[in-house]
Amino acid sequence: RITVLGSVNMDLVATTERLPVPGETIFGGSFAQSPGGKGSNQAIAAAKSGGEVEFLGAVGDDTFALELRETLVLNDVGTELLREVEGPSGVAFITVDQSGENSIIVVGGANATVTDLSAEELAAIENASTLLCQFEIPIETVTAAAKHARAKGTIVMLNPSPMQPIPTELLECVDVLVLNEIEADQIGDDGLAGVPHVVITRGSSGATYRGPQGVEHKEPAMPVEAIDTTGAGDAFAGALAVAWNQGPEQALRWACAAGALATTVRGASPSLPSDEQIEAALTL
Ligand code: ADP
Repeated sequence: RITVLGSVNMDLVATTERLPVPGETIFGGSFAQSPGGKGSNQAIAAAKSGGEVEFLGAVGDDTFALELRETLVLNDVGTELLREVEGPSGVAFITVDQSGENSIIVVGGANATVTDLSAEELAAIENASTLLCQFEIPIETVTAAAKHARAKGTIVMLNPSPMQPIPTELLECVDVLVLNEIEADQIGDDGLAGVPHVVITRGSSGATYRGPQGVEHKEPAMPVEAIDTTGAGDAFAGALAVAWNQGPEQALRWACAAGALATTVRGASPSLPSDEQIEAALTL
């Protein structure tokens, strides 16, 4: 079983001809509301790509909370430990202009309240085979969860996104670091040195793996007609967690297929592929 500890947000997406300047009001074209957040997206990605998944995180007491919980449930993600707290759920205000340029405001809301872990949550982490985390909830909580997982033999997979410096005490507990090229450059080779398994996603160039004793593997991207890369990284991370027990090479193959398929459909969570879709794409 995979336990995902992370964020869940409602994405509010407006399209405009151009991004507004300070003080300006402009008309937008379309508007869409869709469940997102890296934690929730990766949990759904893992569940759809064949994993048994449980989500640790928090929603607020607003109307968004109902839909956010429902989306996890509908995608077979376990929500027994999803907290409901007073106040707003996490939201992301996203503006996308005609050229595809965007500006984003994320308000943590309920996600920011995940500052401690209950005995029940710690038990869920230690009973899981893998803990998958990102940086959209307080980093201290991620560190505490990773330490507990490490002590109990649960594999710790970290997607350090959105990027912030990784505390040494957290990095020491990470078994698998999954990050994109930009994040990898920001951390630098020295920052990645002590981590046993490092997986770097490289967009349309696929992904690379660096393991213990200098083992390396390069997985080419699956050729697809990409229309929207939103969610590709989350699809990759969730699928990687599911396939990790088959070894890094197989896991990268599975995750690259998931990431590629996610780029062929618009949006984040609707674009996450199922295990049948991944298998079909790999046997083509
Ligand atoms: P992020 O969205 O986090 O920056 P990437 O852009 O590296 O992540 O995408 C994650 C994975 O999705 C890549 O490793 C790759 O396997 C797949 N992917 C992304 N873009 C494409 C593409 N244009 N064609 C094929 N696969 C892609």
